[in-house]
Amino acid sequence: MKILVINAGSSSLKYQLIDMETEQLMAKGLCERIGIDGHLKHSPLVGGKPVFDEDISLPTHSEAIAAVIDKLTSPEYGVVASMKEIDAVGHRVVHGGEKFASSVLINDEVMAALEDCTPFAPLHNPANITGINACKAVMGDVPMVAVFDTAFHQTMPGKAFMYAIPYEYYKNDGIRRYGFHGTSHRYVSSRCAELMGKPIEELKIISCHMGNGSSIAAINGGKCVDTSMGFTPLVGLPMGTRCGDLDNGVVQFLMNKYGYSIDEMLNILNKKSGVLGVSGVSSDFRDLDKAAAEGNERAALALDMFHYWVAKVAGSYVAAMNGVDAIVFTAGVGENSKETRAAICQYFGYLGVKVDEAANSKRGEDVMISTPDSPVKVFVIPTNEELVIARDTRDIVG
Ligand code: AMP
Repeated sequence: MKILVINAGSSSLKYQLIDMETEQLMAKGLCERIGIDGHLKHSPLVGGKPVFDEDISLPTHSEAIAAVIDKLTSPEYGVVASMKEIDAVGHRVVHGGEKFASSVLINDEVMAALEDCTPFAPLHNPANITGINACKAVMGDVPMVAVFDTAFHQTMPGKAFMYAIPYEYYKNDGIRRYGFHGTSHRYVSSRCAELMGKPIEELKIISCHMGNGSSIAAINGGKCVDTSMGFTPLVGLPMGTRCGDLDNGVVQFLMNKYGYSIDEMLNILNKKSGVLGVSGVSSDFRDLDKAAAEGNERAALALDMFHYWVAKVAGSYVAAMNGVDAIVFTAGVGENSKETRAAICQYFGYLGVKVDEAANSKRGEDVMISTPDSPVKVFVIPTNEELVIARDTRDIVG
């Protein structure tokens, strides 16, 4: 069975074609500037075909999907003979609200429910829906599955997901914590259990997804019991450009003082804050590491804040789960920055965590970076959200 995984943004569309017999990635690519002009980078990964990397006209997502199918099946760049070889499509969908606690076969009812979830993710869900509709238009009745970023967190108990505001806002409007990066947290926690050789039902795992956006999840017995993002992905840890947790009084103060509209204020909190805002240097941790090493104090402060917040939130999850067996680092920063991992692990001395420096220097593979005698194990596990989407799609489509 071959499955096409689609992650549609408002002007971009990422894809992977995966052969599920071997879980081998056959091709991957990215359409960009959809609706503006258009660019497609298509990389075949089997059969020794060349990469296609050119500007092409992409007025809408439908043309983008058509271009992807064209490249996947073309004699020059293709990896399959025809579209008939693509058995199903798995779509990443950001927000499933309380309606979706797991992945689902897409039908008309599901499409209507996705529309209902749009107010919760007004930037992301419409793009995901557009991607699904474009696929339907081009691929006809090939079965399609939606896999949600929020679904894994639906097991959180009320004490973790509720905000302490009047209850009717939850009841009438769905205002609660939903959490994001669920597919990634689910993948790395289940891989962590495999690496430990234990059933996930017996493990307490803290998963730290640290990329441009960052979140932490507490996973007890394979179920998420808490996570750091909330109603939106703005809160929790300070991130590349997002502020993380912030006193709402600050919003009122700044809006009053500078006359910002709510959109201007949210733009500052989403795009100009986080480690970029504090350092004034960059949202990219590589630039921050370099600047801090050159003596830039604000870059060093931004990094210190990030390490501190990861340790502080993870520590609160040790309390929430009354213990922890393993801590996992993943995503761009978690997978690549040994300095960040080492700095965070210093805070875990109270858990007896000891880092093996040689293991912590490895890259690009699943690795245990704690010493064998460390009572709490620490892992680096490269995330693979596309594989989870493909596996769910296979399981649902059968
Ligand atoms: P992601 O959102 O998971 O794609 O992560 C992207 C982020 O990973 C970038 O913004 C960088 O800050 C970070 N990153 C990637 N490579 C490294 C590295 N070698 N050292 C530190 N940070 C890195």
